[in-house]
Amino acid sequence: MIDLNTDVKFIKGVGPNRVKLLNTLGIYTLNDLITYFPRTYEDRSKPKNICECINGEEALIEAYVVGRVQEIRLKGKTMYKLVIRDETGSATATWFNQSYLKSKFRTGEKYKFYGKINNSFGKISINSPVFEEAEKSSNTGKIIPIYPLTYKLTQNTIRKIIENGLEKINGNLEETLPKYIIDEYKLLEINDAISKIHFPSDFEDFKKARKRLVFEELLSMQIALLELKNNYMEETKGIQFDKNVHISECINKLPFNLTKAQLRVLEEIDNDMESEKSMNRLLQGDVGSGKTVIAMISAYKCVRSGYQAAIMAPTAILAAQHLESFTSLFDDLGIKCELLTSALTKKKKLELLERLENGKIDILIGTHAMLEENVVFKNLGLVVTDEQHRFGVKQRTTIAEKGQNPDVLVMSATPIPRTLALILYGDLDISIIDELPPNRKSIETFAVTKQMEERVNTFVKKQIDMGRQAYIVCPLVEENEEMDLKSVKEIYEKYKTEVFSEYRVEFIHGKMKNKEKDEIMEKFKNGEIDLLISTTVIEVGVNVPNASIMVVEDAERFGLAQLHQLRGRVGRGEYQSYCILKYKGNGDTVRQRMKVMCDTNDGFVISEKDLELRGSGDFFGTEQHGLPAFKIANLFEDIEVLKQVQSVAIKIISKDPKLEKEENKELQNLIKDKFMKRIEI
Ligand code: ADP
Ligand code: MG
Repeated sequence: MIDLNTDVKFIKGVGPNRVKLLNTLGIYTLNDLITYFPRTYEDRSKPKNICECINGEEALIEAYVVGRVQEIRLKGKTMYKLVIRDETGSATATWFNQSYLKSKFRTGEKYKFYGKINNSFGKISINSPVFEEAEKSSNTGKIIPIYPLTYKLTQNTIRKIIENGLEKINGNLEETLPKYIIDEYKLLEINDAISKIHFPSDFEDFKKARKRLVFEELLSMQIALLELKNNYMEETKGIQFDKNVHISECINKLPFNLTKAQLRVLEEIDNDMESEKSMNRLLQGDVGSGKTVIAMISAYKCVRSGYQAAIMAPTAILAAQHLESFTSLFDDLGIKCELLTSALTKKKKLELLERLENGKIDILIGTHAMLEENVVFKNLGLVVTDEQHRFGVKQRTTIAEKGQNPDVLVMSATPIPRTLALILYGDLDISIIDELPPNRKSIETFAVTKQMEERVNTFVKKQIDMGRQAYIVCPLVEENEEMDLKSVKEIYEKYKTEVFSEYRVEFIHGKMKNKEKDEIMEKFKNGEIDLLISTTVIEVGVNVPNASIMVVEDAERFGLAQLHQLRGRVGRGEYQSYCILKYKGNGDTVRQRMKVMCDTNDGFVISEKDLELRGSGDFFGTEQHGLPAFKIANLFEDIEVLKQVQSVAIKIISKDPKLEKEENKELQNLIKDKFMKRIEI
């Protein structure tokens, strides 16, 4: 039997250095390795005649080498040129700075070249091609998988390592889906699927392999969600909160009138809380729609019924912000709120924990620090998580276990279309705030190209001179994080020393220590920084009402939902606010995406459009929607499979709610190992 937990260091070709590199990609075990799926493929299977090559395409050419490699020096670089020829014409292969190439070719021999074609007035060149002798086929002659990588690990290396991994497995993977499902839906068997997803012999193969793996991934998620929901429903006689506690008492203390949508949502929550079944509810609402106050009123109901409430936020800044909102309402009502983050000194923390356990604290607001074992409540009745990313399922459960079936409210600011929400949040009931409080100034959004840079800078200066503050957001993509971080730092240097040298410019990014980040955010909040350059760390609901302008660099690299989320950082005060999206490229999709952002401020509309426009080449996919990170499924492309799988899951669970039947034992295992372990963040 194959042990999929085998450390990758035991795979052929993986030495200590490569172990480290693989680890940075999240690959620790054989299982991680074989499920590290290609990001895309290059079809290097069919050679093209030179005369048929089209400008800009990637192509495979089989051609004879004519003459020797020439070396040409150009401004600090050395270019290597080689003339090649087939029956239809000749072309030049070019490379930069690779002197070893000089002795690589034998004149008159045939080789295969794969690379990007440049056709300039009939002169064809192939740029930095991979190549090998015509009769070999390790890099060409087939469909080649391309993996998401860090820049230190090459495609050839990882490909070889994965090949070795598959060799070790040698077709002996145990089937992970029940046979009746494989038969009914005509799915590939697991060994086939895994080997073909990496090395398909044609695109039909690839499609079948992908279908099987997507099916499995989505099915296990759906079943796990349904099981969770079933669990709450049967075992959990929840708390019945006091019917005589009227939330209107709390509502009347607010400095504003609630919107209709807020009132409707509160009624749903109030009903849940008074009923004997425990609440598991998702509250969706656009940025600024007023979710916090819903959490406060629910907490009021809980506390007045004699229980404690826990409010968990993803960052310390956000937790502190919540504490401010809560105390401003609850101080007068004699409800005691406290903050627990990891920044607390040991002494203060111990003291706080003691008061918590004795019931002297009514509402505890905090970060993940609240999950620690020594945090003990006297009688926890309500858990609210204000989360950016779903699938803190595990954490949600951990904190809920600190009480006896407390009610749970999950707040999410990433609106997704209802149909998708129903499937993805299959374990939760859903409430939606689909209306913003009145008199919100809408944020004016402009999409601009490079030529407008000067004007943008002038505009930003004008805003700052009027006393406002600005955010400048740069993309940071994990795939080659280090390079991106460097480019963000360059922007910072340029803005600080050249463009905005007369202003107070600071820089914040995700790799900083939390303490450092909090300090910078605090300074920004206090108006001690004019211009904050940042990566997307500011995405999570920070409130700085004086910030009226946001400039997003390379906006085309963000998902729309994420842009919307970012944009929500401005327009929080009394000032007219602006969002300027600087973008590159003039593809149709890019322009359409920018237009959507300029045309609407409605998060639900934006997420629908995002679904529509998202091409398969977009890898900023699901996570930024706050949806689970799938290894292979893409909710935008695979919505049909998702629907199919949902009905399959319902059928299975209704017949066999605990997956105890022999025929479902594979599913039982699949969910146990693949899913339950993985729902941690
Ligand atoms: P989010 O849903 O993004 O978490 P918040 O709860 O932070 O939004 O609310 C944004 C702002 O709107 C807060 O300052 C809050 O006090 C205010 N607010 C919430 N509801 C209303 C309302 N019905 N009328 C006016 N202002 C409101
Ligand atoms: Mg919020």
